[in-house]
Amino acid sequence: MDNVIDSRRFWQNLIFLVFWGCLSLTNVKACPASEIKPLAQKPSEIDYVQGLQYALSPSYTNDLDNTVQLAEKFCDDYRQQNPDSKNLAIVSDLDETLLDNRPFYKVNPKFNHKAYHEWVISNVAPLLEPTAKFLSRERKNGYAIFLLTGRRERDRVATTYNLVKQNVDYDGLFLKPNDFKGHAYDFKTNVRKAIEDMGFKIVENIGDQVSDLYGGYAIDCVKLPNKMYFVP
Ligand SMILES: [Mg+2]
Repeated sequence: MDNVIDSRRFWQNLIFLVFWGCLSLTNVKACPASEIKPLAQKPSEIDYVQGLQYALSPSYTNDLDNTVQLAEKFCDDYRQQNPDSKNLAIVSDLDETLLDNRPFYKVNPKFNHKAYHEWVISNVAPLLEPTAKFLSRERKNGYAIFLLTGRRERDRVATTYNLVKQNVDYDGLFLKPNDFKGHAYDFKTNVRKAIEDMGFKIVENIGDQVSDLYGGYAIDCVKLPNKMYFVP
């Protein structure tokens, strides 16, 4: 009898450990916005050099595709399940979400702020195609598209040109004030609140940082892969 109980306990413990092991190894990809918790410190997996290697690998391409598909499915399902809902909106981050800075990172194996800003104002960042297609498709389906970035107002013209010359259609572009000090999530939460105060319902919030997603004012959120850097 004891042997039977020991055996059952062994399998229960094994299943428990495997289950929690999977959870701890899996980053948040999609969840209700209300469940996102802020990260107090940089996750151990974030490393500029190794993160760039991952960003240039087929795994990144797959992970990006899969996570954008989660956002697309949620938006499609929401519209079908709420056919009378009006003023639906999607909020999207820019860098490493819609704009692809890998060409810059590839030639700058050590991050340099001045060089990065020169890259931003050169307005040549290509699009991350899965996100660009998702936003374009959902805009045609009736969602308003609001772009919300940690870039500063001083970069508005370059950023606008970077987007428009690649045929990105959107309904609003929000940048940090030049003198903003504080956490990214404070700025982004306040902008999402302002968007909802205008009368929009933010169905999806998509970004590559937890700070893009934390703070509410969205129904669902999707975290895209980025192991290169962490924005608190
Ligand atoms: Mg970003």
